[in-house]
Amino acid sequence: MTTTFHSTRSTTDSLTSKQAIRKGIADDGGLFVTDALGSTKVDIADLAGRPYQSIAYDVLHALLPDFGEDELRACIAEAYGAQWSDERITPLKPLGDDYILELFNGPTCAFKDVALQILPRFMARTTPADGGDGTGDGAGDSAEKIMILTATSGDTGKAALAGFADAPGTAITVFYPQGKVSQVQELQMTTQAGSNVNVAAVEGNFDDAQSAVKRIFGDRQLAEKLAADSHAVLSSANSINVGRLVPQVVYYFSAYAQLLEQQVINVGDEVEFVVPTGNFGDILAGYYAKLLGLPVKHLVVASDKNNVLFDFLTTGTYNRQRPFYQTISPSMDILVSSNLERMLYYFSEGDTRLISMLMNDLKNWGTYEIPEDLLAKIRQLFGCGWANEDQVRAMIADCWEANRYVIDPHTACAYFVAQQMPRDPLTPRVILATASPYKFPRVVNESLGFDATGTDFDCMDALSRETGTTAPAALRGLETAEVRFTNVVPIDGMERFVANAAKAL
Ligand SMILES: *Cc1c(COP(=O)(O)O)cnc(C)c1O
Repeated sequence: MTTTFHSTRSTTDSLTSKQAIRKGIADDGGLFVTDALGSTKVDIADLAGRPYQSIAYDVLHALLPDFGEDELRACIAEAYGAQWSDERITPLKPLGDDYILELFNGPTCAFKDVALQILPRFMARTTPADGGDGTGDGAGDSAEKIMILTATSGDTGKAALAGFADAPGTAITVFYPQGKVSQVQELQMTTQAGSNVNVAAVEGNFDDAQSAVKRIFGDRQLAEKLAADSHAVLSSANSINVGRLVPQVVYYFSAYAQLLEQQVINVGDEVEFVVPTGNFGDILAGYYAKLLGLPVKHLVVASDKNNVLFDFLTTGTYNRQRPFYQTISPSMDILVSSNLERMLYYFSEGDTRLISMLMNDLKNWGTYEIPEDLLAKIRQLFGCGWANEDQVRAMIADCWEANRYVIDPHTACAYFVAQQMPRDPLTPRVILATASPYKFPRVVNESLGFDATGTDFDCMDALSRETGTTAPAALRGLETAEVRFTNVVPIDGMERFVANAAKAL
């Protein structure tokens, strides 16, 4: 069976994975999916003891078959090399009766590195003929460059900058809301090295910046100008791109391999995962792993106070018309969880008409409701829970006291949900840890009763002193790193900033 990709909302497209990665999102607003998912299984019999990179090859080859073996191996070697502080890439560690899968040992200390270290390498191996309408009729020439454009509330911007810095054929522009990100997050972005990177603070909040970016993407005049003046096309690195989703499938297999190696399980035994979730990308990857043959018993969605997914999974009604809370787990603060659309596609057995209708309802009414039998099916695999901010703080303290292990506020949501669930002694449980606690040293110190005054760096030092752990050099070193970007632009100046950045390509 050949693997082609089409929209979750219609079957008219027929794109290769390279085309889908270059294009990002389907013309009808749907997300790219393939009906071949699961027809090739990944062999789990010989996983134990294999390096991450080797497991990554098997998994990514099954998901992106039009990448050649040499291409794929090169992407993997470049993405999962010495920039990771642990050679296992995503090490699995015991945590009380459970296990924790650390996804934050990459260059920016957040789980988004897993995907954003390899996405630029994938893109560099697509050509303009892979983009456009997919006919390869030469809408563009070989000098065409991709300009990645992102508005960020913190984590994504830095991980994207680190991934795309000096990546061939690409440039990247990141906007963040002035005064609305932490000192560490701001410095992570403004000190970014690379000849193809641009960073600006925006006079406005995250929603203003995000809306402006969406408008820029829809601006035909700008698109024509960029194409004519700079041979550039705009693209996005957000988590609806299939090239950002599939690298995350690998760490589920890696977790299983490590459980086998540590003789916690035998081949074929089922495992449960508890996953801090916002846009549903992190957990959807676990479902893809199951379709590829990984014995996954349950996937548990852990949300913060923005618990729209909890309500959906308990009632069958998705309702985005609700207050938005800015919490201490900012990367999970979300009202529209985009990747859910892919899960609904597969659970409805590819019912594009249903998906199209639901997404239309979401757009027009801010809400949709799925059929009862569909919800029942989903609930057999997906559990759910959520933690408020007091519970998050309490769990950071609880986990430290019980296990002498420091977790960040996002991971703490999952830790809380795991504590609430009845545990099945026969099924090992893996909690995904999505950020280093040193990215959020002030909240962590407050929760643990350590000194939380002074700068973020003072907080890092106190955390280090009190717990005997070491701050990642990539974060601690920011205090003395050279600031390269000090631009502040008004909302209506963002478009000009992008056009100027493209001129330098
Ligand atoms: C992005 C992010 C999440 C949520 O991941 P989704 O793919 O949006 O579900 C959780 N924790 C951290 C630290 C993140 O950066």
